[in-house]
Amino acid sequence: MMKYVSRRTDLKEAFAELVSLATPVPEPGRTLAPLHAIFGGANLTFEGSGYSALQRVTNQLTDHSLSTGGPTRTTVQGWLAYACRVALDQDVDTGFAELELLIDEPLREWTVLEHVRGHFAQAPLRVGRCIVYLTLESVPQVGETSGMASVLAHETPPPVLATAVQARDHESARIRARDRFDETRSILHLIGEHISGGSTGAAILDGEGNARSSTSSEERFVVTRLGFDATMTLGYRGLEAAAAKSPEDRNDWETRVLAASLWLRRCFTSEWPSERVAAAMSALECLFVGGTSIRQRKGNAVADHVAPLVSIGGMTHEQVHTWVENLYTRRNDALHEGIWMLDDLDASRLVGLATEILRWASFHLDEDHNHLEPCRACETRDEAVSAIPFLPNAPIET
Ligand SMILES: [Zn+2]
Repeated sequence: MMKYVSRRTDLKEAFAELVSLATPVPEPGRTLAPLHAIFGGANLTFEGSGYSALQRVTNQLTDHSLSTGGPTRTTVQGWLAYACRVALDQDVDTGFAELELLIDEPLREWTVLEHVRGHFAQAPLRVGRCIVYLTLESVPQVGETSGMASVLAHETPPPVLATAVQARDHESARIRARDRFDETRSILHLIGEHISGGSTGAAILDGEGNARSSTSSEERFVVTRLGFDATMTLGYRGLEAAAAKSPEDRNDWETRVLAASLWLRRCFTSEWPSERVAAAMSALECLFVGGTSIRQRKGNAVADHVAPLVSIGGMTHEQVHTWVENLYTRRNDALHEGIWMLDDLDASRLVGLATEILRWASFHLDEDHNHLEPCRACETRDEAVSAIPFLPNAPIET
């Protein structure tokens, strides 16, 4: 809360101004200014300069706050309306004291649940900073006896991902949980045996108006690839453990592989070839692009690292190199100039290639893999890429 303390005097001045600009909720029929905010509970309206003042104070209190657990703008505006009401009923000092109490309230722990569609051979299962539960009753914070499970089942039917976050309000908690859910889903994409994508469902009718098929392609996982004690199998243990850490505690290679898996997941949740190619290339860039010199020739750098590691449909490593480089250029055209020139076959091949590379990258996070002396997990990009048998003509820059 230090950032608020240094600004308390300014904040009190701004609050006093806001109080002077607040007006009661207007009678029905009076036209409000185009920009206004109404708080019925506090019987207050902020219009014109009052609206601007409300936005200014809200910005002051929410500035960068979501990364540290909130509050959200909605919460802050609720606080301000309440404190203005107290100030108008009593005085500005009392109103401001109420506002300070709300600002200084400590972060609370929230459990956030999200439905995840799929089959999980073993649960509860930790995947990164989330736990997969097969029933709502088995989530400790829900429990078997509270009756809460049936209340929650409508919005979040089981199985669910659960994560606990510190936040000021439930909206901030939801936002903070988002990146944890996304990381967990990215790992599920890598360890799942069968995945169907996350695009919108479709209903298909024939000429007579009969339904021929309806496809719900909600993101769905089948996860059986686990050890007997529900630990991740070799190749994913290091990745899962990295995802369980706070982002600031992760090393270079952990950060890169997790960022790459987030991009790779995007390939499965889109059917648009340009987007799939862009996401797959971004995944590869996260892994291999480093240093300033290499940024000038990223497509080449990606191809240098990728070509020796994969074989695609009868292509030589040199042909893979050329193909990846060309695709990189075309992806830039597609992104920057809106040129539609990526076909589905290229997209599918690249997604397959990126998935293979991601598994290679994840393997280098395992303690048991062994190209380093003594045998340990790779911690940096340089350590991981030292295992690549580069092609003879690839100029390697680091
Ligand atoms: Zn390694």
